Amino acid sequence: MIATAFDAFFLDLDGVVYIGDRPTEGAPAALRELRRRGRELRFLTNNPTSAEEIVRCLRAMDIDAREDEVITSGTATATFLAEKGVKNAWVLGHEELKATLRAGGVAPEAKNAGDADAVVVGWDDDITLADIRAGALALRRGALFVATNEDRTYPGPEGPLAAVGTLVEALAVGSGQKPVAIGKPQPLMFDLARRSLRKGQRAVMIGDTPEVDILGAHRAGLTALLMGEAPVFPYRQDFRNPDGRITALADLFRDDLDGAPLREWDSPPYSWPERVEPGVAAIVLDGRGRVLLMRRRDNRLWGIPSGHVEPTETVQAAALREIREETGLEAEVTRLVGVYSDPRSQVMTYPDGRIRHFVTTCFLCRPVGGALVSTGPETLETGFFPPESLPEPMMTMHPRWLADALARTGAPFIR
Ligand SMILES: [Mg+2]
Repeated sequence: MIATAFDAFFLDLDGVVYIGDRPTEGAPAALRELRRRGRELRFLTNNPTSAEEIVRCLRAMDIDAREDEVITSGTATATFLAEKGVKNAWVLGHEELKATLRAGGVAPEAKNAGDADAVVVGWDDDITLADIRAGALALRRGALFVATNEDRTYPGPEGPLAAVGTLVEALAVGSGQKPVAIGKPQPLMFDLARRSLRKGQRAVMIGDTPEVDILGAHRAGLTALLMGEAPVFPYRQDFRNPDGRITALADLFRDDLDGAPLREWDSPPYSWPERVEPGVAAIVLDGRGRVLLMRRRDNRLWGIPSGHVEPTETVQAAALREIREETGLEAEVTRLVGVYSDPRSQVMTYPDGRIRHFVTTCFLCRPVGGALVSTGPETLETGFFPPESLPEPMMTMHPRWLADALARTGAPFIR
């Protein structure tokens, strides 16, 4: 039975422990039974409210809970800001969130947004466009952009209702910046829950939303169970797919459901990308078999010309454009080298927080004109190098792509 396979149970609230103001079927009895068996409970909710408020809600449903068992996106935000040394914040959120931040040592009373170290987005029905404008201005002046969560909707009686994520998006559009998000599926709340356990205790997450609870648990290296009927994703290794399913919390005590075969998770070696994008790369060999390299301004690494495919552009045209923009040379494509999509090398995290999974088409090319420039907007240095003596440090995957290209030309490659 699952109840005996783990020492600690991390529970999502809405959809798992309760729906609206009613407990899910059998939840009070199941949680009592877990406690009777000495299991640790932690309640993890993206609701940016106080632990006290959650304990009050749970007790009203005959569910016992202590404040130190509750992690809300509000309490986690307070911890995050305090660890970052933030002293005062401009808060787009209600009094509960402000009180939670205050209790964590962050003053939510910045008189105007321009004085704040951070802009924190939570929930408040009375937020106006003027508030968003003031927050966006503070972000442009360098305040830290923190979203308690990025949930776009929550279930309402007549269908999905706009949630915190819609306000976050408004500020992101207004400021041109991307927030640090605190709530699930970011790993922070799971890490805080795990920090509160004793060493060696085995934990499992139970949630009803694959993109939030299951994805977040897996990013934090936790086994995760899906409660309910949500559909799974077609790719088996997708982090959003659960390791097992239950229909109600009472299933944790079923003898025919075993915790042992549940998949064990280590934190994945790459971050979860928000989207997949087409990319191109070009291996340009000169008449002496030397390869064209450029040192990138954004990460100071050497690499072959590479970049995005623009709308309506073919991959060949994109590769030739990148060569031109990054090095000044005109080139033509001679053959395809390969298409690279392994997330271990093709998931990129940018300094502004964007995470992208590239599917990169790599071509072999030869120069046909133009003049090599030494520097450019994206380029610190350029040059042709013999494949056996490449400059360091280099983009990790580019030597392998070069090896693939040289294997196709028959030229030697030593490295
Ligand atoms: Mg939920």
